Amino acid sequence: MSVTDDELDMADRIRDTLDSPATQRINFFVGTQHIDSQGFQQVSRAILKWLWGFREGVAVEIGETSKSAAPAQYLYKDDRFTFVIATFGRTPDQRGAMVHECVHAMIDIQRGSPGFTQPMNEAAAYIAGALYFIYATGRPIDPATQHRLAQPSYAKANQIALAISDKPGAAVADVDTIQLVNAVVQNPTYSNIRRSTPVWANGIFDPTYLFPRFRR
Ligand SMILES: [Zn+2]
Repeated sequence: MSVTDDELDMADRIRDTLDSPATQRINFFVGTQHIDSQGFQQVSRAILKWLWGFREGVAVEIGETSKSAAPAQYLYKDDRFTFVIATFGRTPDQRGAMVHECVHAMIDIQRGSPGFTQPMNEAAAYIAGALYFIYATGRPIDPATQHRLAQPSYAKANQIALAISDKPGAAVADVDTIQLVNAVVQNPTYSNIRRSTPVWANGIFDPTYLFPRFRR
C-alpha cells in the first residue's frame, strides 16, 4: 500500500510536534520509566525510517481506529499510528493527543522498563499530553473539552503535570500514579486494561519479516 500525501503531512506534523520546544521540555519518571526528549527523538527517527522504507520504523496512517471514540491510536503490534482526521494536529489539544500517542510509541521502542505496566503506560501518556499543553499554551487543558469518559484522567493528569512542570527529571509520586491508573482502568475505553496488565511493548524491530511464514 502506498503512502498518501495526507499521511506524509501527518508524519511531518508529528515530527514537528516532537521537535517543538514544548515537547523538548517534557522530562519525568513514572516508576522506572523515563519520559524525555531523547525518547521523543527515538520516535521521530522511527517515523523517518518508515518514510525511508526501512522495516524497523513507525508508520503513520489515516484511517479508522479500533476504539470508536479515539481520534488517534498507536498499535503496538503493527508499530503504527492511526489518525481518523487528516487535519489532526492543528490545535494544541490535538498536538497534546499526538504527544500522548508518541509516549506509547516511545515505550514500544524501549520495550518498557522493569515493573512498568500498561495502565502506567496510559498514565505516562496522559501526563505527557498535559505537560505539552501547559508548556505550549501556559495553562492546563480544560478536561470539560475532552471526551466524557476521559475527563477524570485529564483532571488527574493536569494536577500531576502542574506539580512536576519545570522540574526536569521529576518522579511522579506513587500515590498520584495509582490515582491516575485507577482513572484509566475505570474508563470503559480501556476495558482491556487491568491494574496488573503487563506493558504492551514488543519493540519495533520485527525479525519475523525475514521469515514471512512465521508472521501472524
Ligand atoms: Zn493512550
